[in-house]
Amino acid sequence: MRFATLRTTEGLRAVRIEEDEAFGLDFADVGALLASGPRWRQVAAVGGTTLGSLDAYDLGPLVPLPRKIICVGLNYASHIQEMGRELPAHPTIFAKYARALIGARDPIMLPAVSDKVDWEVELAVVVGQPVRRADEAAARDAIAGSTILNDVSVRDWQFRTNQFLQGKTFESTTPLGPTLVTTDEIDFADGLEVRCEVDGETMQTGNTSDLLFPPVELVRYLSTIFTLDPGDIIATGTPSGVGAGRTPEVYLRSGQTVRTTIEGLGELVNKCVKDEL
Ligand code: ZN
Repeated sequence: MRFATLRTTEGLRAVRIEEDEAFGLDFADVGALLASGPRWRQVAAVGGTTLGSLDAYDLGPLVPLPRKIICVGLNYASHIQEMGRELPAHPTIFAKYARALIGARDPIMLPAVSDKVDWEVELAVVVGQPVRRADEAAARDAIAGSTILNDVSVRDWQFRTNQFLQGKTFESTTPLGPTLVTTDEIDFADGLEVRCEVDGETMQTGNTSDLLFPPVELVRYLSTIFTLDPGDIIATGTPSGVGAGRTPEVYLRSGQTVRTTIEGLGELVNKCVKDEL
């Protein structure tokens, strides 16, 4: 199944998507659907109000207010090498806050205080049920499905200190969506091609089979630290080809369009707009 969060004249609405038609569910967004309890799949699988073609709607962030957005740095060997680092024994973990999130077609707001804004296509998995101290089977069961996150990164702020956070969570920089694709439809454990293009030029290609710490391992690891909650987002890291890894370095400019694609999951298409002070 596929789900999205639409902006309608009455506010946000979670929908199930069949072909390209949207069926409105009794939840404000996909996060609320997942938080509704262990029967969310059965509740969402049938019925719903016909809202017509998905194309007629604006997409909100897939989960607008997740309790946690957890990002994994340095998870593809190719990207670790371009950033000049050793293969890690443990995942590098950092966070974003919900104010960073935008919809799948929304503009990326380039911060007024930086001219070093970079792209990072990432497979994101969405947590579907509470899980703590998960073994492998419980970790897999806890994942509702997959989506795309572009971990837009403000490099000069990211590297001001050895904590990444301040460069990773600028407001309205991080598209999330377009849809949640449940694991029975697209299995995140299969190798999925990932790609990022800027104004039609391919900048990143990779395959999720190269992840050092795959989604199930990440859920197992993170659930040692805290309970993962329905709607939590885990962004699994990016392959090589980021602008900061190029010689000379290349960064996003106002007016450019970033297209991030993952096989079977659709695409994020976002125009860059300079955020004025
Ligand atoms: Zn990232």
